[in-house]
Amino acid sequence: MRPKAASPVTPPHRAAAPPAAASSAPAESLAGVPADIAPKLAKLGIRVWADLILHLPLRYEDETRLVPLASAPSGELVQVEASVLDAEVQYRPRRQLVVRVEDASEELTLRFLHFYPNQLKQFVPGSRVRLLGEIRRGMFGAEAIHPRYRIVRGAAPLADTLTPVYPTTAGLAQPTVRALVGRALAQCELGDTLPQALLAELKLPGFAEAVRFLHAPPPDVALEALENRSHPAWARIKFDELLAQQLCMRSSYRRRRRRAAPALPARGHLLRKLLDSLPFALTPAQHRVIAQIRADLARAHPMQRLLQGDVGSGKTVVAVAAALQAIENDWQAAVMAPTEILAEQHYLKFSAWLAPLGVEVMWIAGGQGKRPRAAARKRLLEARPLIAVGTHALIQETVEFTRLALAIVDEQHRFGVRERLALGEKAPASSEPHRLMMSATPIPRTLAMSFYADLDVSVIDTMPPGRTPITTKLVAARRREEVIARVRDACMDGGQAYWVCPLIEESDALQLQTAIATHEAIQQTFPELTVGLVHGRLAPAEKAEVMARFKDGDISLLVATTVIEVGVDVPNATLMVIENAERMGLAQLHQLRGRVGRGRAASICILMYETPLSQLARARLKIVYETADGFEIARKDLELRGPGELLGARQSGVPMLRFADLDADIALLEKARLAAERMLELEPGLARAHLARWFGAQAEFLKA
Ligand code: ADP
Ligand code: MG
Repeated sequence: MRPKAASPVTPPHRAAAPPAAASSAPAESLAGVPADIAPKLAKLGIRVWADLILHLPLRYEDETRLVPLASAPSGELVQVEASVLDAEVQYRPRRQLVVRVEDASEELTLRFLHFYPNQLKQFVPGSRVRLLGEIRRGMFGAEAIHPRYRIVRGAAPLADTLTPVYPTTAGLAQPTVRALVGRALAQCELGDTLPQALLAELKLPGFAEAVRFLHAPPPDVALEALENRSHPAWARIKFDELLAQQLCMRSSYRRRRRRAAPALPARGHLLRKLLDSLPFALTPAQHRVIAQIRADLARAHPMQRLLQGDVGSGKTVVAVAAALQAIENDWQAAVMAPTEILAEQHYLKFSAWLAPLGVEVMWIAGGQGKRPRAAARKRLLEARPLIAVGTHALIQETVEFTRLALAIVDEQHRFGVRERLALGEKAPASSEPHRLMMSATPIPRTLAMSFYADLDVSVIDTMPPGRTPITTKLVAARRREEVIARVRDACMDGGQAYWVCPLIEESDALQLQTAIATHEAIQQTFPELTVGLVHGRLAPAEKAEVMARFKDGDISLLVATTVIEVGVDVPNATLMVIENAERMGLAQLHQLRGRVGRGRAASICILMYETPLSQLARARLKIVYETADGFEIARKDLELRGPGELLGARQSGVPMLRFADLDADIALLEKARLAAERMLELEPGLARAHLARWFGAQAEFLKA
C-alpha cells in the first residue's frame, strides 16, 4: 500500500510571492511563461522555473518505435503506422467516424465517437497515419477507439526518448507542460547539491543525470522500474526529497539547540526522596528516559524532547522527575494537559507526591474562579520555585511566569503546533525553557524519524510489571443483555466500570443529549448501583467531583463520553464497555481501552458495535481486538489511513513528501537522516543549496 493519498502533489508550504533572493535569474522566476499559463502552473505548485525540474512524470508513452499491427498486444498502448483504406461517418449504433486502415500485417478499424467534420477529410484513402492507442480484437477484428493520431508525409522520424506524461490540471495540455519542462531543463542550474563523496558512497546517480533521465528516458529502459519508481534515478530523487526534509528539520533543531536555556544540573535530593516514597520501583525503561532528560536539562541549551510511551507505561512519574529537577535549581516548571479531567488528575497526583517534599504545586484552569486565578497569577510572579499544572489556561496572555525553565506538554498530539510552542514562550525573554512533549500515540519508527526529526525522542518501551493483559471482546449491539449482566457482576463484586457513550460527531449538543439519555437508561437498568455521568459540558467543579467519587469507589459505574479518552487513571476500574465502537478511530479505541488494566486485576474491554459493519470498521475492530501493543496498532493504522491523517500532518509543520514513501523507502530515509547531519556539519553551503532547490525561499521558515 502506498500511503500517498494524504500527500498533496504540491508542496504546501510555498509562499505566494516569488523568492526574494534571485541567485541565477532565469531559474528563479517564471519569466517568459504566458500570463494565462502561470496560474495553472501555480496550481501544481510550480512557481519558479526550477520547480519544473522536479515536476516529474507520472508515467510514459512509447513513441520510439512502430509495432506491426498483427503483433500489437491487446489493451496496451502501442504506436503503429498504417495507410488509410476508407473513412465514413456511420449512424448505427450511434453517430461515429469509422476509419479503416491497414499495414503489411493486418487491418484495423478506428472509431471516433467525438469528431470534427474536417477529420473525415483528413483520412484520404492511401494517406499514412501514425497512431498511438490500445488495440482490441473482437467480433469485427482489430479496433482502436479514439487513438491519438497524425497524418504523416515524407520522412517522419520517431521519437528517440520515451514520452513523459505529467501531472497536470484543467486547461494545461501535456504538450505545453512538456515544452515548459524542456525549457527548464535547458536553462536551469542542475548542479549537484550532494557532496561527491556521499554520492559515491550511496551509489546514486548525479542530480542532472537523474532528472534528465526521468524527463526523457531512452527507449531501452526497463519501464517497470521507472513506473514503480525503483529505478536508481528515482532513488536519487527520493533520497533528495527525504534529505531536504531532514535538512529542514535538523537545521531548525540545531538552530534552537544553540539558544540559551537555564542549566539545571541534576542535584537529585528531591528526586531521591520522591523515589523512596513511591509505592513502586521505576522500570528500567523509566530509569533510562529519566537519565536522558536529566542530562538534557543540565545543559545550558533548551531540551527538545519527545517522550513516547504506550498508554499506561508510566510517563507521569517521568514528568514529575523532570519537574523536580527545575525545582531543585530554584526554577519553575509548567505541565499542560489537553483536558480538564486529565489536568486535574495530574494536579492531584503531583500534589500528593510532592507536598510531602515541600514542593509547591499550583492549579491553573479555565473553570477556576476569578479569585483563585488571580492568586495563582500573583504567586507565579513571585518567582518562587513551583510547578504549575493546568489546561490551555496556562497559555493565556494573562498568565505570566517569571522563572519558567521547563514546559511539559502531556498528550501533545492533542494540541496544535502553536499551542505546544506557546507554553514555552511563557519563559522570560532572556532564555528559552526546556521542552518535554509526551505522547501516548506511539508511532512507527520510520514516521517518528520523519515527522519528529527536529526532536530528540525517548521511548518507554516496557510496561510496569504486574499488569494483567486486558481481554478485548467484540459484541454485536443486539447482545446488549449479556453485556449488562457482565457489568452487573463486575460491579456487585466491588469492581468498577466505565460505560462509554456512542460518539456523535455532528454536534456537541447531540453528544450531550446522548450522554444524558445513556446515563438515564443505564441508571434504570442498574437501580442497585451508583451510576455517575461525566461529559465535556459539565462545569469543571462538577467534573472533578464525579471523577473524585469514581476514584474513591463511591461511584461504581461511570457513564462517560470520550472526555475520559486520555490519561484518566483509576486502577480499580477493570471493565469498560464502549458503545458504537465501530464509529471510533483506532488510536481512540486504544486510548479508551487503556483506562482499564491499570491495576493487578484482570480487565475486560467490551466493544459493542452495530451491524452491518463497513469494511473499514471491520478492519479497525479486528486490529484492536487482535492487538494490545500501541506501536503495532499505530503501524496498522498507518497502513489503513496513511501518515497524513495519522499525525494530522497538515498542521504538523513538517514538509510533506511527494515522491518518497515512508513505507517503501525506509532505507533511504535512514541514509538521508545521517547525510543531513553530516552536511549541516561539514557542507552548510551545499545544505542551503539543497534546501533552496526543494523548498525555495520558504526553507528557512518551514519550521519555527
Ligand atoms: P501513562 O504513560 O499512560 O501516562 P501513567 O503515568 O498514568 O501512564 O501510569 C499508569 C499507572 O501506572 C499509574 O497508576 C502509575 O502510578 C503506575 N506506574 C507508573 N510507573 C510504575 C512502575 N514502575 N511500577 C508500577 N506502577 C507504575
Ligand atoms: Mg498519561
